[in-house]
Amino acid sequence: MKTPLVEMDGDEMTRIIWKMIKDILLEPYIDLKTEYYDLGLVHRNETNDQVTIDSANATKKYGVAVKCATITPNAARMPEYNLKEMWKSPNGTIRAMLDGTVFRTPILVKGITPYIPTWTKPITIARHAYGDVYKNVEMQVPAGGRAELVYTDKDGNVSKETIHEFTEGPGIIQGLHNRDDSIASFARACFNFGLDTKQDVWFATKDTISKKYDHRFKDIFQEIFDNEYKEKFDAAGIEYFYTLIDDAVARVIRSNGGYIWACKNYDGDVMSDMVATAYGSLAMMTSVLVSPDGVYEYEAAHGTVQRHYYRHLKGEKTSTNSVATLFAWTGALRKRGELDGLEELKAFADKLEKATIQTIEDGVMTGDLAALSTLENKQTVNTEEFLLAVNERLKETI
Ligand code: NAP
Ligand code: MG
Repeated sequence: MKTPLVEMDGDEMTRIIWKMIKDILLEPYIDLKTEYYDLGLVHRNETNDQVTIDSANATKKYGVAVKCATITPNAARMPEYNLKEMWKSPNGTIRAMLDGTVFRTPILVKGITPYIPTWTKPITIARHAYGDVYKNVEMQVPAGGRAELVYTDKDGNVSKETIHEFTEGPGIIQGLHNRDDSIASFARACFNFGLDTKQDVWFATKDTISKKYDHRFKDIFQEIFDNEYKEKFDAAGIEYFYTLIDDAVARVIRSNGGYIWACKNYDGDVMSDMVATAYGSLAMMTSVLVSPDGVYEYEAAHGTVQRHYYRHLKGEKTSTNSVATLFAWTGALRKRGELDGLEELKAFADKLEKATIQTIEDGVMTGDLAALSTLENKQTVNTEEFLLAVNERLKETI
């Protein structure tokens, strides 16, 4: 490798898996060059979370990172890790610093049929992670008053719209916003990822009802597409497709998958859980954060698998699925290979992914998948046995 890959270590069971993957499947095969940041909660606490900021800056500098799942502290973690503060979610910090969009893609294997059996290709969901109801202001109001939407411009001029006259009784009101620059970043990240993965990009809002708010999303996407991406999409043989959100939902269900579905914040929150569940398992979902200027951070979509970790600490062998974490590594290595023109590194990433899928399709899998798989000769193995079984297959291809 030429440029270092930014490595963000993490917590609990995924931290254990992280080391196993490196020991068993990476270091014996490649000259792995990483710039290591320990985002484990112990070290975040020691550095007052500076390490998270440093790792995000390194990602901006080098362009590609791979991240292990990390604990987002809650009240229970304060005494457990003797924390100075309830540190913010590292993912939130990194996403804000990179101005990134998260793309989640399921890993499909034979033997695990999605609940929607016609989904033979993955559906990648991109969620706009800024604004709308997630940054709302809301009130519960008594009867008799009037709710107004008021905007005061920088010179003090006021524009006003009545939201509702509460003559009939009390009620509720809510103020939402979004920003053109954030919507534009989201649009660019989606179009870039479409080009990157050679897949169509779908986007949907409720612009017929929300003629200014949602319509603005539609217009920004269309302007950016026409001005910056249309020719590149034509050349790549892919399409940008806009429709109403309800029509999109109907089409998604009838589709075979194989596209990127860009979603407004709330739609993405809801639909990503639906799509993940329909494909079978959160442990088979990868996630990549893409910034509008083309910086990539790869990770698994699941968390640190806390319950398995506590069993691991008691000395039990767990059967924790490492596939999404493994694919975070292969995604990052392939992207590093692409950016640095390292054909061998790209080929290695492909081989490692193939060996992983082959292992599961040969019937060797962790417990979570064995519970779903329809293969007849399946065998449940523990965390390490699975990685060793992948290694057996990988060796044959190198
Ligand atoms: P989780 O780690 O995703 O695990 C929830 C449950 O899903 C597990 O208990 C397990 O079920 C199953 N599962 C998830 N991943 C699996 C895998 N790889 N193999 C097998 N089973 C798997 O979510 P959580 O327990 O709610 O959260 C634990 C910690 O992770 C929290 O501190 C949270 O803040 C953090 N988190 C981090 C990220 C991130 O860094 N991106 C994302 C989400 C959560 P069974 O126990 O039934 O086997
Ligand atoms: Mg959700």
